[in-house]
Amino acid sequence: MLKKFAIFGNPVEHSKSPNMHNAGFKHIGFDGRYEKYLLEDGEKIAEEFLKNGYEGANITVPFKEIAFKKAHEVRGIAKQIKAVNTYINENGKIIAYNTDAPGFLKAIESFKNVKNVLLLGAGGTAKAIALILRQNNINVHVLNRSKEKLSFFKDENITCFTWDEFEAGKYDLVVNSTSAGLKDENLPYEQEKLSHILKNSRFAFDCIYGKTTPFLALAKEWGCEVKDGKDMLLFQGVLAFELFAKLKASDELVGVMKESF
Ligand code: NDP
Repeated sequence: MLKKFAIFGNPVEHSKSPNMHNAGFKHIGFDGRYEKYLLEDGEKIAEEFLKNGYEGANITVPFKEIAFKKAHEVRGIAKQIKAVNTYINENGKIIAYNTDAPGFLKAIESFKNVKNVLLLGAGGTAKAIALILRQNNINVHVLNRSKEKLSFFKDENITCFTWDEFEAGKYDLVVNSTSAGLKDENLPYEQEKLSHILKNSRFAFDCIYGKTTPFLALAKEWGCEVKDGKDMLLFQGVLAFELFAKLKASDELVGVMKESF
C-alpha cells in the first residue's frame, strides 16, 4: 500500500526534500510518495499529520519548536534541542526526532581531528550543532551578535559570548550558522576579527548552501578547507529516510539522494 510522507513548512515551495525522498523511494522500490504541505497554523501540526494519514514527515521553518511540543514522544538529542525536524507515525502515535544535529556531524566528518569549534550564531540551527558537538566531546564556543538567544546555551552550560565580550581563542573549525550571507553579502562577524580567527583555523563550514558566501570566500582566502551546507541538508534527509523506510542507507542510495537536488 502506498505510504504518504510530507514536509511541513511555511514557506515550503522552495524545499528540496520531496526530490530527495522521492528519488530515494524510487531507487529502493519503496511504494512511497513525499509531498509539500504548506501549513498555516503550527498549532495544528500533529492533527494535520495524523488526519492526512502520513507515515512520516519532515518539519522546516518555522515549525520545529511547535512540532517538538505537539509530538507524543520525542527521542534522542531532540529532547535537549527542544526542536524536531522528523515525525514518524507509530500506530497513531507521533514519535519525533531531530536529524539536523547528526546530519551536521556527518557533514563535517571529512574534517579530521576537530577538537575546538567556534560556532557563529545562536538560532535554532546553532542549538542543534552545539549540543551534538558537545555530545561527541568536541569543545564548542558560541558567538552571537546579540544577547537574547544566548540564554539557551547558558542554561546548557555551553560557553557563549556576545560580540562585545568576546576574546578569540584558537579553533580547528569555524561554523557559520547565522543567516548572514543567505540573502545578502554580509559577513557573520566583523571582518578584521574574523580574518584573525580564520587565519589560525584549519576548517570552515557554512550551513548555507548553493553559493559561496562571503564567510566561505574569506575562509578560503585565509587558507581554510571549506564546505557549504549541502551535505548537512543531504544527511538530515538520509537519516530521516532511514526512519521512514526502516533501513540503513547504502552509499549508492546516498549518492542518488545527493544527485536529486
Ligand atoms: P535563526 O533565525 O534561528 O537564527 C539566525 C541567527 O543568525 C541569529 O543568531 C542571528 O543573530 C544571526 N544573524 C542574522 N543576521 C546576522 C548578521 N547580519 N550578522 C551576524 N549574525 C546574524 O536561523 P536558523 O538557525 O534557523 O538558520 C540559520 C542558517 O542556517 C540559515 O542561513 C539557514 O538557511 C541555515 N540552515 C541550513 C540547513 C542545512 O541543512 N544546510 C538547515 C537549517 C538551517 P541575533 O540573535 O543577533 O539576531
